[in-house]
This record gives sequence, C-alpha cells and structure tokens, in this order.
Amino acid sequence: MLYRLKKAGYESYLVGGGVRDLLLGGQPKDFDIATDALPEQVKALFGNSLIIGRRFRLVHVRFGREIIEVATFRSHHEQAENEGQGVMEDGRILRDNVYGTLEEDAVRRDFTINALYYNIADFSVLDYTGGMTDLKARTLRMIGEAEVRLQEDPVRMLRAIRFAAKLQFKFEASLQAQIELQGQRLDLVPPARLFDEILKLFMSGYAESTFQLLTTHHLFPHLFAQTGELITAGDDYARQFVRLALRNTDTRILADKPVTPAFLFAALLWPAVRQRSELLLASGLGHLQSLLDAGRDVINQQLPQISIPKRFRQMMIDIWVFQARLTQRQGKRPIRLISHPRFRAGYDFLLLRNEAGEELHELCDWWTRFQEAGEGEQHQMCKALGGGPKRRRKKGADHTDGQD
Ligand code: ATP
Ligand code: MG
Repeated sequence: MLYRLKKAGYESYLVGGGVRDLLLGGQPKDFDIATDALPEQVKALFGNSLIIGRRFRLVHVRFGREIIEVATFRSHHEQAENEGQGVMEDGRILRDNVYGTLEEDAVRRDFTINALYYNIADFSVLDYTGGMTDLKARTLRMIGEAEVRLQEDPVRMLRAIRFAAKLQFKFEASLQAQIELQGQRLDLVPPARLFDEILKLFMSGYAESTFQLLTTHHLFPHLFAQTGELITAGDDYARQFVRLALRNTDTRILADKPVTPAFLFAALLWPAVRQRSELLLASGLGHLQSLLDAGRDVINQQLPQISIPKRFRQMMIDIWVFQARLTQRQGKRPIRLISHPRFRAGYDFLLLRNEAGEELHELCDWWTRFQEAGEGEQHQMCKALGGGPKRRRKKGADHTDGQD
C-alpha cells in the first residue's frame, strides 16, 4: 500500500494510534496513512477504494476485511471535527486551503504521541512535536497550548482520558489543569458526536479505569448529568454499580464476547432510573410501570447530552422493565421469560445490582438455578414459590396460581 504510493511518486507515512501502539510494543488496532497525494490521486491508484467525508475527504482502501484510512496532509484550517462547522453560511463547503504540508499535518493533531510518522521505506520515525520523548516518559502532552486546543475541540478532553486509561500515561501539567478548567465545554459538543465518543471510551476494554479518570477529573457529570449528580453527592451504590458494570464490560471485551451499547447505557443510567422509579413506586405506581416511566424520563433528560439511537433506547427500557418482570415468578411466567430475547441481559443486569449492594441474593440464586434446571425441576421450583408474587414461600403453602 505504502509502496504503491511511493512508486507513484507520493510521500506517505503510517501515523496516529497504529504507530503509537506499535512503538509501545502493543497490538495496533488499525493503521492510518498520511500522504501528499490528493484523495482523487489515491483513489486512482487503488481500485478497491472509496472517497468518504463531505468536508475533509478521506479515502478508504479495502484490503479483504480491513479498511485502511488514507488522508491527505492537512493544515489546521479546519479545526473541530464537528460536522457542519466547515460549512459556510451560504452552504459552501470549506475545502480550500485545507490541505497542507507534512509539518502542518503534524501540528494539527491532538497529542504529541499521536503525531509520529513512520516511514516504512527506511524504518525512520519523523517527529516534529517531541512525541518520542513523551512516549518514553509515558506522558500525554497536547500539541500547542492545551487551553487553545481544548477550546477548539473539547472532545480532545475525552480523547486525553481515553489514552491515559488505555496506555496508563500521565497528563502533562497544563493539560491536566485545562481539563479541570474546561470540563463544561463538553456541554457544547453535538450529542451525536458524544455518542460515538462514549462508545470508544467504554467499549475498548478500559472502561473501568476510564470511568475512574472521568470522575477524578470531574468530566463524568458533563456526560451523564443525572448519574453524575448522584455520584458527586456521594451515592456509593451509584458509583459501585457503574464501576462493576464497566468492569464487567471490560471482562467481556477481553474474552471477545459481544457487548451492546444498550446494556452499557442502561447501566450508566440505572442509578438515576432506580432513584426515580422508587419515587414513582412510593407515589402508588406499580413496580413495572414505575420502571417504565422512570426509564423514559431519564432517557429524555439524557438525550440533549448524548443522543442514543432509538434502537438502543428500546432495549434499555426492556432491560430496566425486566427487573420487575424477573420478580414475577408465578405459574408459567418464568418458563416464558427465560426464552425472551432480553432474558439474558435482564438477568445479567440483576446480578450486577446484587453485586453492587442491592439485596437480591435469593432472586439471583433462584434464576441461576432455574436456568440450569431441567424441565421437571423448573416446574417444581415455580410450584415451591407459592402464589405470592415476590416472596418465596415454604413448601406446602401451596396455592394454585399462574392462570395468566
Ligand atoms: P485509536 O487507537 O483509538 O484508534 P488513534 O490515535 O488512532 O487512537 P483516531 O481517532 O483513530 O485515534 O485518530 C487518528 C489520529 O488522528 C490521531 O492519532 C490524531 O493524530 C488525529 N486526531 C484524531 N482526532 C483528533 C482531534 N479531535 N484533534 C486532533 N487530532 C485528532
Ligand atoms: Mg486510529
């Protein structure tokens, strides 16, 4: 790929996270290529390629299942990557003067360790910003002035947290100070972009330490105001629940098990949903209805901060409502519930609540045994519960129930 660009007379380098992770001895997730060839020129060289992006155009070159992103050197003229910002009032798209030299391309990047250019022709690394020194000192340093660069694009604060958590790097002092000062700027970031960024923060295998850093640096409430408020007020359950849920996510990712954004967001908002549903319960609503109403309210309050796509929202509500359904074990209900598509998520969620300190041992144990039991035994288990919707009865307190 790089050779083909070189043969055609273009300059090209590996850059970004791929080089950084490689130099740190890690396994790069993907590679980005920076080149002086224009998008059209890149496209002409590779049949299996596609120009994407309205404002700043990139070329995606497909290699089997992998996609390599090729970007033409660009200068800092386009700043924040927020969609729409490069569009003039008359709808014209700012594209003039967007391209630049290699050196300009380096200084418009975020952190020094992300601006190392690897030249595969001679295995040399081009370093315009002191990235090699910072890499060795395990320091995350903003290129240019942290104050200005975070104003330009507040998402860089989240990127800083993400890299610090993943690489276990420390912040350079002015970067850290500016993160403390500029947290509220996250409120200005378009909610759709924050959604994408949240997934990167929490679905890359370092969610728990990311969460710790987000709370230490007071950024978490700017992402999740409702849960953040509880945590800031010292609600141990809220903090513990979110931590355990994220640890659980990390473990799943490490084991190559699937994680869904719906479960993640359901967990991140649960402390708020729980609190709200308890108020509704006390005001006379039923268990299931109070979870449903609380869930909807909490989601609606969250959406202006982070736009959660609709398909995930429904699943979040399902998971929350399942917390009520799992307490209803009369008659044939458990047999039906267990084959419900949301059962597994609902059950996993229940286990987390228990682990975080809610008194749900009996219910958790029951469902765990129920899943492992054979059909006959399952019938026995339901029968043994008797007619009460929640409490387990002694054997013999035998009501006929479950004509549902
Ligand atoms: P990851 O391992 O998560 O992919 P990455 O460093 O490759 O980390 P990307 O989001 O893939 O991160 O971006 C690729 C490169 O583009 C970065 O290394 C950085 O040089 C530059 N970059 C990305 N986002 C920004 C930003 N908001 N501001 C400045 N430079 C950025
Ligand atoms: Mg990358």
